[in-house]
Amino acid sequence: MNNEHKTRVAFTIVTLTTAAIIFFTVRRMRRRKQRESPSSSCYSHSEPKPQSAFKRVLADNSYAPFKHLSFNASKNNGNGSSLHPFQAEITALLQNHQPEIELGAEKLEMNDSYVWVDTEMQLKKLVNVLSKEKFFGVDTEQHSLRSFLGFTGLVQISTQQEDYLIDTIALHDSMEILRPVFADPSICKVFHGADNDVLWLQRDFHIYVVNLFDTSKACEVLSKPQKSLAYLLETYCGVNTNKLLQREDWRQRPLSAEMVHYARTDAHYLLYIANCLIDELKQLDNENSCSDDKFHFVLEASRRSNMICLQLFTKEIEASPGESAALSLYSRHQSNRASPSISNETQFLSIVRQLCTWRDLMARIHDESLKYVLSDQAIVALASRLPASNSEIYNSIVQTDVNAETGLSSSIPSPSPVVCSHLTDICHLLANKLVNHGDIYSVILQKCLGQNGNCKLNISNYALLVNCNVRPTLSSKRSSLKNPRQHSKKASRNLFVKKFSCKSPVYHNCRIFANDGRLLCYCDRKKLEWYLSRDLAKVVDEEPPAIMLLFEPKGRPEDEGNDFYIQSKKNICVGCGEGNHYLRYRIIPSCYRIHFPEHLKSHRSHDIVLLCVDCHEAAHAAAEKYKRKVASEFGIPLYVRRVIHPGQETEKPNDEGGVSPLQLRSAAVALLRHGPRMPHDRREELTEIIKTYYGGREISKEDLEKALQVGMTPHERRKFEKKRGVSSKHSTGSASAVPYEGNDTDYAPGMSNGDTLKVDTLDGSYVNEETRSGDNRQDDSGKPSLASDLAVDKATSNGNTIVVKTTDHDDDETSYSLVDTDESLNKMQPNVVSDEESIKDEDTTQAKHHSKLSLLGHGPHGKQVVDHLLKEYGEDGIREFCQRWRQVFVDALKPRFLPGGWDVKHSGRRDFGEFSVYNHQKRETADSME
Ligand code: AMP
Ligand code: MN
Ligand code: ZN
Repeated sequence: MNNEHKTRVAFTIVTLTTAAIIFFTVRRMRRRKQRESPSSSCYSHSEPKPQSAFKRVLADNSYAPFKHLSFNASKNNGNGSSLHPFQAEITALLQNHQPEIELGAEKLEMNDSYVWVDTEMQLKKLVNVLSKEKFFGVDTEQHSLRSFLGFTGLVQISTQQEDYLIDTIALHDSMEILRPVFADPSICKVFHGADNDVLWLQRDFHIYVVNLFDTSKACEVLSKPQKSLAYLLETYCGVNTNKLLQREDWRQRPLSAEMVHYARTDAHYLLYIANCLIDELKQLDNENSCSDDKFHFVLEASRRSNMICLQLFTKEIEASPGESAALSLYSRHQSNRASPSISNETQFLSIVRQLCTWRDLMARIHDESLKYVLSDQAIVALASRLPASNSEIYNSIVQTDVNAETGLSSSIPSPSPVVCSHLTDICHLLANKLVNHGDIYSVILQKCLGQNGNCKLNISNYALLVNCNVRPTLSSKRSSLKNPRQHSKKASRNLFVKKFSCKSPVYHNCRIFANDGRLLCYCDRKKLEWYLSRDLAKVVDEEPPAIMLLFEPKGRPEDEGNDFYIQSKKNICVGCGEGNHYLRYRIIPSCYRIHFPEHLKSHRSHDIVLLCVDCHEAAHAAAEKYKRKVASEFGIPLYVRRVIHPGQETEKPNDEGGVSPLQLRSAAVALLRHGPRMPHDRREELTEIIKTYYGGREISKEDLEKALQVGMTPHERRKFEKKRGVSSKHSTGSASAVPYEGNDTDYAPGMSNGDTLKVDTLDGSYVNEETRSGDNRQDDSGKPSLASDLAVDKATSNGNTIVVKTTDHDDDETSYSLVDTDESLNKMQPNVVSDEESIKDEDTTQAKHHSKLSLLGHGPHGKQVVDHLLKEYGEDGIREFCQRWRQVFVDALKPRFLPGGWDVKHSGRRDFGEFSVYNHQKRETADSME
């Protein structure tokens, strides 16, 4: 090897070494940078969580509604299949169930032995034991800080012999083994305050409790001074318990001795306490046996317990995630602020909203609770200070959380690992740079879970990414690129939702108790105030408010088997659970209901439910279809067939005089609007229709205008006259000679938004939505059409044809009315609505129209059907008729969120007592006594 060669080799080695050093250094620097840069890798990769080991989750963090356990159709015989899977079993228990708890030589003391169940084998053994028991005690503990929806960390089951602690984390995917014993109606499960436990068991394991005895419900019925478990443990067992332990981290393994003791105590004494309480209830029943008060204490406690079982777990789904949190945060914050400028305020609210959306989505993605991700006070601080760098954001959060620190929240790191891993997102968000490209929702989702996303995909967040179709609607600029027709349909639907859905919660869930502490009903605040202002009640609870009546109410809902009225009602669509908008829907169409005898009308709240626009549409379509069925079944047509002008009636009842009101109206409109431009033949044809109404004589323009007004209410007519102004008042001459200059609405009062009648602008003829064939009505606006049903009192049946005499329009008393649809729409937007009162008001409003009649709606049909039912079958006929409508409703919607106790067979007799706000006679007396 010569020197030259040596030098070359040496050079090559040096070069290669240098290259290698540079390569490795750069790589190391890159890696370090990656580690330091918080958003490039998320804590979720390195922090294992117990729930990551779950193989299945029933309630994931997506926006898709929770799916309940369902059986094959045969079990539910197609009847209410979407209700509670054990609806029938539980309903049977509500009727007449006597809880039987008999303890042997009871062993009250809690010794040191208990069984820790954490293998499938042990769980099967336990099921074997439990299936031979008549009753057992149950309690559950859940963990909610490091999980979006929370999960059950422990289930405690106690029999007379043994305490079992089930490790529901280890056994998460095997818990279904317990379903049969929990659903077995012959085994009584004893809980204390089961409301949450029942829902948690459904959420995590599809375990449904059937046959429940709740010791807190027993306390209620016994009017105990307190109904906490701590109180019962102390009073009946002489045991003190430290309830602070319920806030421990129940994911911890092994559990501390203290936690084991606490958990066992919660279940161990339940059977003994239940036994004592049942004895007391029986005692009261015996004392009461001779009085004519039918109240049965044991049955009542059992019944209230089993009502809890009917509750169904639902995910709270917001159309815009974080929106409600943002608004509540904002309003709380506003009250603490000096008056800021409007533009600052707008920006502040917008940032609060974005941070709440960000927090909601981050919590779902990382399976953490909202408060773990970012505290409310930190959101307010960020939105008001607008820190501009990662470190400023970091410091801002730390400071705020330290200041707000209350002993308990100290277990939450501040800022949370979620924030630390995603500081850059917050930085962009505060600088208004996050939403430049598309909406915040898809941006975050892609950054976190998309290809090359930073965060860990798991079974809880997977569906967020996959089910993009059930993602919430957020304003997005791209939406305008969609099919414009589709877009406008969607826009007008949104507009409709905004305009007509209930603006505030319909059900207020205020409670009224009888003077012995029994719950009488739920109602709105106005009703509470009514009693309070008259010193007829006193306040017994603040939020939600409750009052106790100071007098003995006549009749109690539970005496009459009306479970429904003492159910707390949720402000959601009973069909699909949508909670962001809802309209009231009347299950019994009003064209029938307004003709019911008053006492059958009074159970309105059962048959008025909340529905979202889509479910409303579906239910309405089914009802219209069924109306046609009723029409053909009873041989009573839906529409008035003929009207005759006053003075034209003949003596012969079968005279083929008159004309259909619909035809009359459309002919008049067409002639007035397009008369002069119409082909001669068409004009003759239409004129002939008007002539027939007037008995064949020649007609003037005034006749045409009068024909147009057939069916208007006096009010509408006045409005109509006013709108027309003087121009037409003084015009004379024949219809064909004088074209009327005016806009469409002048000729179609009551035919604005939501009317069921439409004008075909080509020939001016009306098409009635309800008479169109098929049920897939394609309404341009996508809004439900609202039938205008009114009373008729002058219709006489004449075979299959209704002939109605109309009188002169100048006579208000006897004229015929068409419902002002604007008015009926207004009724759908309650401000503060009482469950029943507002409905009452509406009936009264409609009753005012009773002397007038709608010739275009289904009013005459409704009256004839109801009269027929009452004549042939009496009130039972009406009840049976109502059940048919409820069945139509259930079949059409398969509603999954009907309140517990809602029943197709509901008989709904309510007797309004002396001081009831529904008792109008008494109410007037009470008012006048003031
Ligand atoms: P308990 O059966 O009373 O021990 O309560 C069951 C579960 O409810 C506990 O494991 C907690 O997750 C939750 N819980 C009940 N009360 C509270 C509370 N005051 N604060 C936080 N969590 C609670
Ligand atoms: Mn407990
Ligand atoms: Zn992440």
